[in-house]
Amino acid sequence: MSYNWCHNPDCHTIETQSRVRGSDDNKVLRTVKIKSHGTDSIWTYFCSDNCLHQFLNKFPSEVANIRPVNKPSETPIQVEKTKYESYRYNWTANGTERVPYQATRTTISLKNS
Ligand SMILES: [Zn+2]
Repeated sequence: MSYNWCHNPDCHTIETQSRVRGSDDNKVLRTVKIKSHGTDSIWTYFCSDNCLHQFLNKFPSEVANIRPVNKPSETPIQVEKTKYESYRYNWTANGTERVPYQATRTTISLKNS
């Protein structure tokens, strides 16, 4: 079984019982050890949401430069507008009255390529 140490450089400063190691007067907070279960996911490198976000906030430009985005991407779509009968309500002296009107529903779907 392989393992990684949590990659948040400040993991060992977070005060939890699970990080306490050592005995008597030699206790420390230690970086969390993460057992690898053979899957390569972000949780192979970070022990918690907190540690992942501390890391991202400490190295934002380094993370962005792993895969720079210099232009927007586009996904071809079809936009379909369909009309349907709906109602709105008017408040009158005698209570509410239902008034029909023509409503429009917009549906976006991916274009078949
Ligand atoms: Zn951690």
